[in-house]
Amino acid sequence: MSERCIPEEARELVQLDERLLDLLALLYEGKRINVSTEVERHVIIFEFNGVKLTLDDVKPLEEMALASRKVVDRVLRCPKCDYRELEVKLLCPNCGSTNIEKVRIIQHRICGYIDLEINFRRDGQMVCPHCHSPILSENDYRVLGTLYYCYNCRTRFHEPDVILVCRRCGTRFRPAEGAYKPVYGLELTEKARRLLHDAHDFRAALYKLLEEKHVDYQCSANLTGRSGVTYEVDFYIPSVKLGIDIEPRIASHNDAIYFALKARDLHMAGHIDRLVVVTREATKESISILTSNPNITLLLGEVPSRLTKLVLDLLTGNRR
Ligand SMILES: [Zn+2]
Ligand SMILES: [Zn+2]
Ligand SMILES: [Zn+2]
Repeated sequence: MSERCIPEEARELVQLDERLLDLLALLYEGKRINVSTEVERHVIIFEFNGVKLTLDDVKPLEEMALASRKVVDRVLRCPKCDYRELEVKLLCPNCGSTNIEKVRIIQHRICGYIDLEINFRRDGQMVCPHCHSPILSENDYRVLGTLYYCYNCRTRFHEPDVILVCRRCGTRFRPAEGAYKPVYGLELTEKARRLLHDAHDFRAALYKLLEEKHVDYQCSANLTGRSGVTYEVDFYIPSVKLGIDIEPRIASHNDAIYFALKARDLHMAGHIDRLVVVTREATKESISILTSNPNITLLLGEVPSRLTKLVLDLLTGNRR
């Protein structure tokens, strides 16, 4: 592996599946990665850009100390079959019936009688069961609180029992008996932050592609423009006259002008048709300079697979 293509400290990135390089890039950019769990069993899924990866798939990131897992949530599952879809039942603590209802305790203002609201109901009207006078408006009574009432055994209680029923195997269990499993998110380590800060993820992805496709290319190629000035191009693929520069940040107007001149000069000398400039960050002014140059394709804040797809399209003549 050439030191010119990818520095020593970033070499291990080449072992990573491109989807994992994309995931690192998204985490680095602070983009939201959707984390979910499968219904059938407790498998954690990371979803981004139409890609789905399980926690097992992302293990290499942990093994290489690029990311660490962190509990972001927990999910209750059937203790018997691990299913996630559970039905919640509220039961009478006395007889176990599900036929319970939350009812109000009210006091009749005139006679002071206190009872459950359901005992005031008579033939669709409200009547005091004690003094038998009709209750015409809400001003006739006071609400003292609420209780649960069991229609089966007529018990009153404050808290019902909570039972969960698995929608797949039918197992009934109390919440405390369920399997309360962790859902993990990923956090980049300092090491990963350093490597991505220098945009080595793009170098790794590109290097991997060019090697796998047996493309004839050069790293840190010195090319002389029509003006006689010699420029260094990070990756150069002569067969399609493509140059690729990976520049973590384009912070100044001058940097952008340099790329514009370089692209033009190398184009006029017949070395390149196109210079792809990959960057994580560029000033507004730089962006307008780079995007208005016909010989430059700017990839700004993208994931590594965008670069490899673009290069692959150019290699296979599928030009965009
Ligand atoms: Zn009951
Ligand atoms: Zn009354
Ligand atoms: Zn089950």
